[in-house]
Amino acid sequence: MLTNGLEKWLGVNRTQEEFRESVFVFASLTVLSSVLSLFIYYNTLFIPNFLLASIEAVGLGFCLFAYFWLWQSRNVKIAATIMVSVMTAVSLLFIVGSDHSEFALAFSFLTPVVAIFVLGYKVGAVFSLLNFAIIAYICLIDMHNWPPIPFDKISFIHLSIVYLFLFSIAYFYDSGRRKTLALLKESNRQLQALSHTDMLTQLFNRRHMEALLQQPQKVKWLAIVDIDDFKKINDDYGHDVGDQVLIQTARTLEVETKHVGQVGRWGGEEFLIAFEVADYSIIEERMRAIQTLISNQDFGLERPVTVSCGVAHHQGAIKADAFRRADEALYQAKNSGKNCFHVAVSSGQ
Ligand code: GH3
Ligand code: MG
Ligand code: MG
Repeated sequence: MLTNGLEKWLGVNRTQEEFRESVFVFASLTVLSSVLSLFIYYNTLFIPNFLLASIEAVGLGFCLFAYFWLWQSRNVKIAATIMVSVMTAVSLLFIVGSDHSEFALAFSFLTPVVAIFVLGYKVGAVFSLLNFAIIAYICLIDMHNWPPIPFDKISFIHLSIVYLFLFSIAYFYDSGRRKTLALLKESNRQLQALSHTDMLTQLFNRRHMEALLQQPQKVKWLAIVDIDDFKKINDDYGHDVGDQVLIQTARTLEVETKHVGQVGRWGGEEFLIAFEVADYSIIEERMRAIQTLISNQDFGLERPVTVSCGVAHHQGAIKADAFRRADEALYQAKNSGKNCFHVAVSSGQ
């Protein structure tokens, strides 16, 4: 609800990079404006000090001006520069006007942290060094007037304010960093999945299968599955129907290879199964099931769709050899009338 309102007012979507920065500048401006309003009230009604009240009023004016930049021109950098300047001026004013209370010096810590956070390390460093030079000057011109004072309630309030401010910044910074990292991880995961997926069938693509074949300890058997007379299906029913046949075949292969291996689209109407079980009887049973399921399946054509397959044992390091032998076995399956599978003899046999 609050985020939606801020999104609208700042004109920045929460998914955009500058959203967090804009919200931070907005929140800081709100805190600053409230503090300045309180001081103006205090310096006009309680302990009248016209000079201080006027300076505070100018600071408040600048804050309103920064709000305007945020809202009107969406320029977070200018708004941030104004906010940091006013914050530095207010903290310096407080240090000078605090009657040498040593705790007031703690407010000098605000500028380096906030300036670097919202303005970047270069401009932020200039602000911080300038602030430090003024603080050093204030301290050094009458050093003997900064005696230790007893730690009282006001000292504790000062300490708490500075502490909570630094805490909020650290929290904001780190949560932003973690969110960005999580987003980056998720988009990397999606990219990784995409780069390993065949867009038409949603099976693994050739890149994934080739990488898998490099793992002889994982892959025990290979099977190349090729749809028979697929060109004719395309010619007779059109490319779109051909695509549907590929998708439907892919689903069957996916189901039939579950728990025993991985299947991917090697290219065109060819699929590759990388079996991760060593027991040949399981491979044989799966291949027969694939063959039967596909040939009996209704593809919405007036003819059955069949596949021919070549199976080979994956013999360790000689991966290219296993693929070549599976391809040769597939060739034999095609030559023996299609709709069947052949197993290559091991290269050692
Ligand atoms: P065989 O029984 O000997 O395997 O013959 P075939 O017709 O299946 O094989 P061939 O290599 O002659 O033809 C394969 C066809 O697959 C040719 C190509 O146009 C088609 N093809 C390749 N990729 C796609 C695709 O993504 N979608 C569709 N619809 N067709 C494709
Ligand atoms: Mg082919
Ligand atoms: Mg074919």
